[in-house]
Amino acid sequence: MGLGALIPGEPSGPWAGVPLAQWRDWRWQLREQLRTSQQLSQLLPLSSAVQDLISSGQAFEVGITPYFATLADPTAANCPILRQVLPDAAEAHTAAFEVADPLGEDPHRKAPGLVHKYPDRVLMLVTDTCAAYCRYCTRARWVASGAERLGQDQWQQALDYIRATPQIRDVLISGGDPLLLSNARLDGLLDQLAAIPHLRFVRIGSRVPVFLPMRIDAGLVRALRPRRIPVYVNVHCNHYKELTPQAVQALAMLADGGIALGGQAVLLRGVNDDAEVLRETFYAMLSARVRPYYLFHCDPIRGSAHLRTSVSRGLQLMEQLVGFTSGMAVPKYCIDLVGAGKVPLWPAYVEQIDDAWVSGHSYKGLPWRYVNDPSAHTAVEKPTNGSQ
Ligand SMILES: *Cc1c(COP(=O)(O)O)cnc(C)c1O
Repeated sequence: MGLGALIPGEPSGPWAGVPLAQWRDWRWQLREQLRTSQQLSQLLPLSSAVQDLISSGQAFEVGITPYFATLADPTAANCPILRQVLPDAAEAHTAAFEVADPLGEDPHRKAPGLVHKYPDRVLMLVTDTCAAYCRYCTRARWVASGAERLGQDQWQQALDYIRATPQIRDVLISGGDPLLLSNARLDGLLDQLAAIPHLRFVRIGSRVPVFLPMRIDAGLVRALRPRRIPVYVNVHCNHYKELTPQAVQALAMLADGGIALGGQAVLLRGVNDDAEVLRETFYAMLSARVRPYYLFHCDPIRGSAHLRTSVSRGLQLMEQLVGFTSGMAVPKYCIDLVGAGKVPLWPAYVEQIDDAWVSGHSYKGLPWRYVNDPSAHTAVEKPTNGSQ
């Protein structure tokens, strides 16, 4: 690199001379995103195939905050940080089953940015912008496309639908990254949602604590404060390296502000498809007050085959977590399908089940058998005292 080594989370490498006040300014971090081949080359040499992919304009949006870039190890062949955000020549290829809308959200649009797919909850997309762009983005067809305008008018249509639909009990605010909206807009949106009597809580999906922890300041925490209903923030984090002291501090500010934290990860080949990495990642989340919620199988978005594992590998990894680590550190492993929605997959601990018995094996592989329906067993006389 010739520009000095990277120190995770600190102004270093190409940014060695940047004053701390600027480094900690989230707007500066967004302005200085690495977007072009030339900017990315400050970090590491790019192959001509990757340069062509970026300059062709065919690649999904590219953008990495300088902060997140310093978590990388550009000298490693398979840096788990870079693999998530740096375009790969393999993106140019579409594999079998890959589609533009892998979750089948489009047919469930009820208003601009509003997806009503499950009976009692909705997904509200409030921006198409992110602090950095994941190469496996499940909404790659929509994120950073500017295809849908999401101003106040569009929000009102979504809010009208939620107000008129009493079976909706919670709203998942996502995008793009909602925490890139201004504090005033977030505050206003949460005020309006909290005023809808049938809503019981609100959740926000975000990767800002990981990509741009400096965004989380007293003003934002105040905007997200619990109102009549609580606010959950589900943080997308895939590797323990992302939980730097800066990220942990940002999460602590949210938690101290009364915001409940959950974690979601995406299973990615060459990033976290390793039992040790997953165990440490979920443990690091819990240590940062983030309860792991979902481990998503990587959706079949176009050009993402190099990042996907098999489902059987995912189940094998779950078997290496369950029982071997704190139950709080084991999320639900899910595939997400167009028609069926999220399907949780759990290793097959139950092997046989009939009216009388349930049997299977434990996490350590020990066989067990357990009474299923007690009425399927003939009663045995309870021994009385003194009798044998
Ligand atoms: C994931 C998702 C939700 C929330 O689902 P939970 O299982 O409750 O976390 C809601 N709407 C859509 C469209 C989703 O994809």
